[in-house]
Amino acid sequence: MKYVLKTSAPQRHSFDLTRELNPQQIAVVEAPPRELLVLAGAGTGKTRTLTYRVARLVAAGCNPERILLCTFTNRAAREMVARVEALLGIDMRRCSAGTFHHIGNRVLRRHGQAIGLSPDFGILDPEDARTLLGSVIAELGIEALSARRFPTPKVLANLISLATGTRQPLEKVVEQHNLKLLDQAGMMAQVARRFAERKRQMNVCDFDDLLSEWLRLLEDPSLRNVGDELRAAYDHVLVDEYQDINAAQGALCDAMAVGHQSLTCVGDDAQSIYSFRGADFTQIAAFRARHPQADLYKLTINYRSSPQILALANRSIAHNRSQYPKELQAVKPAGAVPAVIPLRDVFQQAEFIAQRVLELHHEYDTPLARMAVLYRNHSHSLELQVELTRRQIPFSVRSGLRFFEQAHIKDVCAYLRARQNPQDALSWVRLLRLWPGIGAQTAEQLATLLAAPLSQSTGGSSAQRLAEQAARARGRARDALTRLAELWAILEDPALQSPGDMIRRVVERHYGEYADRNFPNAAARKDDLEQLAGYAARYPAASEFLGELALVQGISAENVLGAEEPDDKLVLSTIHQAKGLEWPICFVLWLAEGRFPMATAMRQPADIEEERRLFYVAVTRAGDELYLSYPVIEETRDGPSHMLRPSKFLLELDTLPAVFDRWQIEEAPADPAPVG
Ligand code: ATP
Ligand code: MG
Repeated sequence: MKYVLKTSAPQRHSFDLTRELNPQQIAVVEAPPRELLVLAGAGTGKTRTLTYRVARLVAAGCNPERILLCTFTNRAAREMVARVEALLGIDMRRCSAGTFHHIGNRVLRRHGQAIGLSPDFGILDPEDARTLLGSVIAELGIEALSARRFPTPKVLANLISLATGTRQPLEKVVEQHNLKLLDQAGMMAQVARRFAERKRQMNVCDFDDLLSEWLRLLEDPSLRNVGDELRAAYDHVLVDEYQDINAAQGALCDAMAVGHQSLTCVGDDAQSIYSFRGADFTQIAAFRARHPQADLYKLTINYRSSPQILALANRSIAHNRSQYPKELQAVKPAGAVPAVIPLRDVFQQAEFIAQRVLELHHEYDTPLARMAVLYRNHSHSLELQVELTRRQIPFSVRSGLRFFEQAHIKDVCAYLRARQNPQDALSWVRLLRLWPGIGAQTAEQLATLLAAPLSQSTGGSSAQRLAEQAARARGRARDALTRLAELWAILEDPALQSPGDMIRRVVERHYGEYADRNFPNAAARKDDLEQLAGYAARYPAASEFLGELALVQGISAENVLGAEEPDDKLVLSTIHQAKGLEWPICFVLWLAEGRFPMATAMRQPADIEEERRLFYVAVTRAGDELYLSYPVIEETRDGPSHMLRPSKFLLELDTLPAVFDRWQIEEAPADPAPVG
C-alpha cells in the first residue's frame, strides 16, 4: 500500500507586511530572488527584514528545508525561525538556520564521507586543537630543530585559523600578523600539514575544518558530484551580519548560491568588529566587487534608539574615515540625554551602576532583563560582579568563564567523546590521566592502543581492550584499569543511550570520587555535573549532545542551563557578544584611555577605527537610556595610585551642540554614629 505523507503547508499564506514594516523594508522583503545587498545602520531593522523575507519565501511556497539562513549566533537563528513560525503557523525545524559552523557541522555529517570523514566524526574545540597541535610539534621534534623559539601552540593555532579564514597561505598571514616569526614559516607550514593529517586519522574536525572542509566539497573539481548535490539542496541563501564574515564564509555564501543566485546579504560596515578573527569589513566592498549586478538596498529609519542616543552614535562614528556614509533618522520620541559619569575608582563605578540599576528597577518598574552592562573586556566586569552579588541583584554573565571550558566538565565529556568515537586519542589521554597509577607516558601508550581502529580480525570492544590491558598491568594501574573496564562495559551497553545517564554513571563510578580528592570545591563541581547531566538529557544521543556542546562557545552556564526558567536578571556582556541585541537601558563602563580603546588592541592605525566601531556597537544597543562611565583614579596593587584619562571616544564627543550630560557624583554623608 502506498501512503502519502503530506508536506506541512503554511496555514496562513499571507500576512500584512504594511503593518509590520516600512516601505524600504518591504522593498527588500518583496525583491525577486536575486543577489541583493542591504547596507544599513544599526537598529534599522535589518534582522527583522531578513526574517520577513524568509517568511515571505515560505509563504510563497518554498519548502523551509530549502532555505539556508546564516546568522551570527545560533540563538539569533532560533529567534528568527520562531518568529517565522509564529507568523505562518508552520513548522520550520527543517530550515537550515544557524552559524556557519553549525551548518557546516550538519553538511559534513551528511556529505563528509567523500573526503574521508565518517558521519560520527568528533569536534575539537579550540583547547583540544591546541593540545593536538602541541603534540604534533613534539612529534616532529621541532624544538630541537629550530634555532629560534618556535611559536606556542596557541600562537600557531591562531595563525593557522587566520590563514583558513582569510584563505591565504600561512606564510602570508605570518608576514602580516607576526613578522618576527617569518623565518620559521616553512616549519610552521609543515606542522600545519601534519596537524591536518592527524585530525583526519582521528576522525575529528576543529572549528576551522567545519568551514574549510565544507568549502572543499563545493570547490574541489574531483568532488563535483557531491558539490552539485549540496548546491541543489537549497534554493535561497540569506545572511545576517555580513560585515563580520571572513573570506572563507564569503566564498561559502557565493558557492552555495551558484545555481540559483538567490543570495540576500544584510550588514552594516560600521559595526564590523571581528577583524582579529579574520573577519574583514572590506568583505562588503568585496561582495560588491564580486557581484556587480547585485541590487543594493538601504534602510534609513532607526527604530531602536532615541534621537539623543542616535545623535551621540552618529557623532562618534563620523570620526571613522573608512565607511559608507549613512543617514539615520530616529522615529522614537525625544528621550533622556545620554549621561557621562566620571567616578572616583572602579569600586565607586560598580556602586554607581548597582544603585542606578536598583533605582530603575524599583522606582520605575524596569525589569532587570531590560538593562545591560557592556564592556570592552570581560575582566572589566569583576568589581561589578562582586558589588551585584553583595547587593543580591541577580545577573547573568554572557562573557564569563565558560561553563563548558571548566576542567571538570571537560573531563567528564572526554568519557562521552571516547565512547562515541574510540579513535579520539586525545579524549582517551585526558580520561586515563585522571586515574591513580596512570602517568603521562602510560596514558599516551594506552591511548594509542585504544584509538587503533577496531578491526574484524582483532575484534572486541573498548571495554575488552581495557580489560586486557588491566590483566597486563601491575599495582595501582591494574586496579584503575580494571575499574575503568567495568565502567566502560556499562557505557557500551546498548541500553544506555541517553548522554545524561552516561554522565551520571561516570560520576557515580569514578568522577565523584576523583573530584573529592582533587578539588577544594568538589561539592560545587559535582553540582555542575548534575546540571550538565540534566542538560544533556534533552538530547536523545551522545553524538548530538557532543556536537552541540562543541559549538556553544561563549555561552555561560546560566544561559544554557537556565534557558528553561526565564528569570529576571541584569545582563552583563562584552560588546562583542552583544552584537545584534538591544536593551532599553545600557551602561558602558571603563571608558578610560588605554582600556577602551584598549591599548594592546592598537597595533596599527586602522585599529583605532575598529575600536571606535566597537564603541558604536555598544551605544547603538541602547533604546532609551545610555550611561557611559569611567573611573578617574586607578589603584595599583603595590605602587602609588594614578590618574586615568577619559577615553578619546568621550573627548571627541564633547563639542557643541552637546550630545551628553555630565553627571557629578556626590557621596551622601555617612550616617551619624549612634550615641551612647
Ligand atoms: P543591528 O544593526 O543592531 O543588528 P538591525 O538593523 O538588525 O540592528 P533590528 O534588530 O532588526 O535592527 O531592529 C531593531 C529594532 O527595531 C527591533 O526592536 C525591531 O523589532 C524594531 N523594528 C524594526 N523595523 C521596524 C518597523 N518597521 N516597525 C516597528 N519596529 C521595527
Ligand atoms: Mg541585526
